[in-house]
Amino acid sequence: MNSIHNTSVDEFVKEILNNNISYLSRAITLVESNNLKHQAKAHQILEKCLPHSNNSIRIGITGVPGVGKSTFIEVFGKYLTGLGKKVAVLAIDPSSSIQKGSILGDKTRMQTLVNDDNAFIRPSPSGESLGGVARKTRETITLCEAAGHDVIIIETVGVGQSETTVHSMVDFFLLLKLANAGDELQGIKRGIIEMADAIAINKADGLNVKETNLAKTEFARALHLFPAKESDWIPKVVTCSATENIGIKEIYEMITEYFTLTQKNGYFYQKRNFQNKNWLFETIDNELKSDFYQNDTIQKEIVKSIKMIENQEINPFHAAKKILKIKR
Ligand code: GDP
Repeated sequence: MNSIHNTSVDEFVKEILNNNISYLSRAITLVESNNLKHQAKAHQILEKCLPHSNNSIRIGITGVPGVGKSTFIEVFGKYLTGLGKKVAVLAIDPSSSIQKGSILGDKTRMQTLVNDDNAFIRPSPSGESLGGVARKTRETITLCEAAGHDVIIIETVGVGQSETTVHSMVDFFLLLKLANAGDELQGIKRGIIEMADAIAINKADGLNVKETNLAKTEFARALHLFPAKESDWIPKVVTCSATENIGIKEIYEMITEYFTLTQKNGYFYQKRNFQNKNWLFETIDNELKSDFYQNDTIQKEIVKSIKMIENQEINPFHAAKKILKIKR
């Protein structure tokens, strides 16, 4: 196989559309690269893939570490491939930029799904800010859709800002919870519950069954207090056991119900349009910034200004104004 450099954009696109996983992986590597030449090539590939994208269902899954996300995604993913679907699992884990090793990213996860020909699993790009991860994930979704993946699952840890980011790129948002831990213990903020289209209380097996059923009733009651959703969808609370494969089919049926409703009432398309508009502005913001900081004169002026600020010869505000006035 040719290297990334020797492979033409057209060859990439042709092979991605044929669901050639190795080309798909390498195209994602281009998307994730910070090398400008790689990014330029990635963008050419993306442009040609865009007409073949937008045809999957995108599901966000969040929950604190230990709630059972990877176990759940593994059985859920297997259930979907069993239905003949092609599933891509992507992760958004900004923690990988803050600490060595990520909360989500270890390789032993989802062993069965990894070996399923109809599943494609890609860990979160590492060493990135949340904004960087978001852009790369969005572009990766496009490539996976062009490769024919019908279901895109985006996993994140429910402890930071990343759920909002995931929410901004999926159609359906599923929150996994445990029955026996308070919300504070689970690090779940009210905002996340508000974003969720469904809450699945996991580990509903063995001695946990009674507790999970109780929690289900409590959550259902609590959800009633939230304002009605624009989608007209009434968020559901369900229980499941990822290890015992209980409630998995029902969760998929519920998600299907959501898609039927929102495609019928138009909310699905409205939300995607809204997300696309955000994507437009984020792309513009990114490009403006990257063009700006790569300019030689600007780089030199920034170095000079930092020295002047250190020597208290200029204040940061004036320095910034001066740099912004430089013609590019
Ligand atoms: P993640 O950190 O959210 O990805 O959680 P994992 O999928 O790694 O699961 C954390 C632990 O919970 C593991 O030891 C799993 O075996 C266990 N676990 C996951 N799902 C279930 C479940 O449905 N029932 C029970 N009893 N244990 C589970």
